[in-house]
Amino acid sequence: MKIDTIISRLKERYPPGKFGSRDPFRVLISTVLSQRTRDEVTDRATEKLFSKFGDCSALAGADAGDIEDMIREVGFYRVKAPRVKEIARIISNDFKGKVPDDMDTLLTLPGVGRKTANCVLVYGFGMDAVAVDTHVHRISNRLGLVKTKTPQETEMELSRVLPKKYWRDINELLVRFGQDICRPVGPKCPLCPVSELCPSGKKK
Ligand code: SF4
Repeated sequence: MKIDTIISRLKERYPPGKFGSRDPFRVLISTVLSQRTRDEVTDRATEKLFSKFGDCSALAGADAGDIEDMIREVGFYRVKAPRVKEIARIISNDFKGKVPDDMDTLLTLPGVGRKTANCVLVYGFGMDAVAVDTHVHRISNRLGLVKTKTPQETEMELSRVLPKKYWRDINELLVRFGQDICRPVGPKCPLCPVSELCPSGKKK
């Protein structure tokens, strides 16, 4: 089946990490910072932020201006700094410092949409969920796995067409594939390990 071949070839090239092994709070904050920001910039800003404010309670008590200074590189940092502080405050006060592990509760946090919530479930808790960011949305459409206009539609469609055993893998695989080969602009189709399965690639 096409999807099995795609996943197995991508897994060969990008061996998956250990899901559920990351700190859920750090995954949550990093994903909030990642909105409209390049991956490498997000990683740098997350590192900087957590090296100054190591955990949820430190961030809850931080000055929003100091948070701004740490995340200045990311898009909309002025909006994100108070948001990060508020998320930390809510988790500290209302959830005893523990990030909730269910979609509905995660969605009540400021600035948290389905992509962020799903990333927390996958990377923070190792749960089966389909986390759709810009890479997953773009590549799933290029490969013809879905035919959708928005990441949310892609999440719904992928949840339908993708066997559950692949849900956790899909985000990491397509993010790494999207950074490496199937780039937003100028995908490197001649180097692509699944080119013969891709309707977009065949046209080139
Ligand atoms: S053939 Fe090109 S467009 Fe298709 S998945 Fe590969 S890199 Fe992306």
